[in-house]
Formats: sequence, structure tokens, C-alpha cells
Amino acid sequence: VLFSDLGLSSSIMRAIDEIGYKTPTLIQAQAIPVILQKQDLVGIAQTGTGKTASFTLPILEILTSSKGRARMPRALILEPTRELAIQVAENLKQYGQYLKLTHALLVGGESIVEQKSNLNRGADIIIATPGRLMDLFEKGAILLNQIKILVIDEADRMLDMGFIPDVEKIISYLPKSRQTLLLSATMAPEIKKLTDSFLSNPTEITV
Ligand code: AMP
Repeated sequence: VLFSDLGLSSSIMRAIDEIGYKTPTLIQAQAIPVILQKQDLVGIAQTGTGKTASFTLPILEILTSSKGRARMPRALILEPTRELAIQVAENLKQYGQYLKLTHALLVGGESIVEQKSNLNRGADIIIATPGRLMDLFEKGAILLNQIKILVIDEADRMLDMGFIPDVEKIISYLPKSRQTLLLSATMAPEIKKLTDSFLSNPTEITV
């Protein structure tokens, strides 16, 4: 499988090419077409498999080619830690360098005032840890009613860190009609329960 078989547009292909990725990893080859078809997905994959690009690339593609209200958050990526959120934001920046999309990174340990002003400038994609996102939402600083795609990354770490109730609360703030992607290294019973409650007929990919 080649990147050019996956249905990504030329601006994204150019970024991938410049970064130096030659071929898609297994999870990328399998997940990207599924996500581009707007299906829900459960990806069982460890870090190091290329899983970040497997969801960020198609999200960039979907948001670029859809008309939605620009600069209203349309994709929400939840990460268990600040470090992971920062990494995902860096990847998005690289992969989306030739696109006009914007993102906001909402994590603890950083100025909430600055994050609010980033939101006011407009962000198509939010990358957040659950606690800070809830904080900003409850302060009325963020609108989540245009979210079309939700990613729950590292779901098993969310579970270990006790974040599942927060994740469920955040999901209750989102439109019911949306695409949901969940990634986890393992499929613990609690993760299976989350999947059954909040994903609709997901394609399951294990790498
Ligand atoms: P991840 O599993 O998302 O943490 O990615 C692990 C590493 O693989 C990161 O450093 C990525 O930049 C790199 N990577 C992701 N996709 C590819 C690819 N198709 N070819 C080569 N490296 C990749």
C-alpha cells in the first residue's frame, strides 16, 4: 500500500513526502480509508506503530474538504497527558503545514488566559487533556456544538489515570451525530464498555 492509494489530497501528500515517510504503516494503511469514509473506528495499537498519523492525517483531510464553519472547533482529540497532547499538536502542525487549518492545545500547567485567547482566535482542531477541557467548557470559553470528529487516544491510559468519568462527561457535551475514533493499547472491559456506549458500529483494527 502506498500513501497515494489512501485518498489524501496533494497538500497533505506534499507534507508527508517532505517529512520523509515512504510508506504507510500497517495501522495507517488500514485506518485512514475507514476514517475518510466517516466510519467509527476502534484501533488497538501501541505507541510507535504510527497511530498518531493514522487519525491526524484523515482528520486534516476531512476538515479541509468539508465546508463546516471554519474556525469553530470541528475535531476534538483527547489525550491523557500534556506530553502526549503536545506531541499530537506537533504532528498536526507538520502534517497540516500546507493547509489553512488551525488548532488549539488545551492542557494543564499552562496559562488558561492564553488558551482562552487562542480559542478566541479560532481553532478547527482542539487537542486537550480532559481536566483542562472541562475547565474551559464550564467557564464558557469553548463551544463544542460543532464537533464532528472525536478522538479518544490512549484510552487504556485514560482508564489507568481515572479519566473515564471525565471523558464520559465531555462526550455528553458533544453533538450525538459525530464520528468517534478510539485508540487503545489493550481492550480492557471498561474500554469495551466505553466503546459499546459511545461508538456506532465501529470498524475494529488490531495491529
Ligand atoms: P506514533 O506511533 O504515532 O507515536 O509514531 C511513532 C513514530 O513513527 C513517530 O516518530 C512518527 O513520526 C513515525 N512515523 C509515523 N508514520 C510513519 C511512516 N509512515 N513512515 C515512517 N515513520 C512514521
